Amino acid sequence: MAPQPVTGSSVALAIDLGGTQLRAALVDASGSILCKLSRPTLADAGPAKLVEQIAALAGAVIGESRSRPPRAAGISSPGPIDTIAGVALGIPTLRGFHDFPLRTALAEALALPVVLENDGIAAAIGEWRFGAGRGFADLVYVTVSTGIGGGVIAGNRVLRGRRGMAAHVGHMSFMAGGEHCFCGNRGCFEAYASGSAFAARAAREAAVHPSTRLGRGGAPVSAPEVFAAAAAGDDLAARLVAEEARLLGLGFASLLHLYDPQLIIVGGGLSQQFHVLEAGIAAAMRGAAMPAFRDTPVVKAALGVDSGLLGAAALAFGNY
Ligand SMILES: [Zn+2]
Repeated sequence: MAPQPVTGSSVALAIDLGGTQLRAALVDASGSILCKLSRPTLADAGPAKLVEQIAALAGAVIGESRSRPPRAAGISSPGPIDTIAGVALGIPTLRGFHDFPLRTALAEALALPVVLENDGIAAAIGEWRFGAGRGFADLVYVTVSTGIGGGVIAGNRVLRGRRGMAAHVGHMSFMAGGEHCFCGNRGCFEAYASGSAFAARAAREAAVHPSTRLGRGGAPVSAPEVFAAAAAGDDLAARLVAEEARLLGLGFASLLHLYDPQLIIVGGGLSQQFHVLEAGIAAAMRGAAMPAFRDTPVVKAALGVDSGLLGAAALAFGNY
């Protein structure tokens, strides 16, 4: 069902379906969030229960808001989803989402026209329309969290590809025969530079560097702990942070060569430490990029955790 663009004083229902958090908001055409609610995602409950949860949260956010009811809904969902057909093809973080007709199920449950988007692309649209990418025609958005995802705007258009799954940048091959990736391949960019890979590398290194404060007491090492230890002068942690920046910069150099963007926008959990990583990312990216690409800036996402939610709103408004 193609949505009618909503305009003027209308509001859109935006849903960010994540593997751990489900968030719903009412958003106006300027990208202002009027009302927002979140719940832990019922990730193991199966598609029928999860669609019920989405509809209930949407009902709650509409009930709490004093604005007029939404006329369309935009949904950001983990991929891979065939957004042309509206079918979830097998979402690793949500049980039972194999060949599930997600768009139809949500349109029925919400009684609204629904636009469905892969989460990396939705977040790219959010930053493009309302955040750090506003006014740019060519950009690459990369989210660095548990995994690595992304979205590409090229020539003022969203790059979607054959089935709407373009820009799974975390799964570009980075190292022949390298680390295992959850996608089944070896050596993906995500398997080296994601927050999970960063924390796993820190744990491995801490085990053979007794002088570090990382991993003392046997607790698992998290990415925020590594940044904290580096800031406190821990040598190993500082080297790990520098290595993370270098790996991200090398991957970003490939994105420059592939898409020739005006800028790269970095979101996701690790972007909270962008100020620490920025110089190392830029140095590695410029070192690996061909000279003509080296002046491309890398910036932090402006919308924080709301990039995908606001991208979903833009989709509902037909603003993409
Ligand atoms: Zn992979």
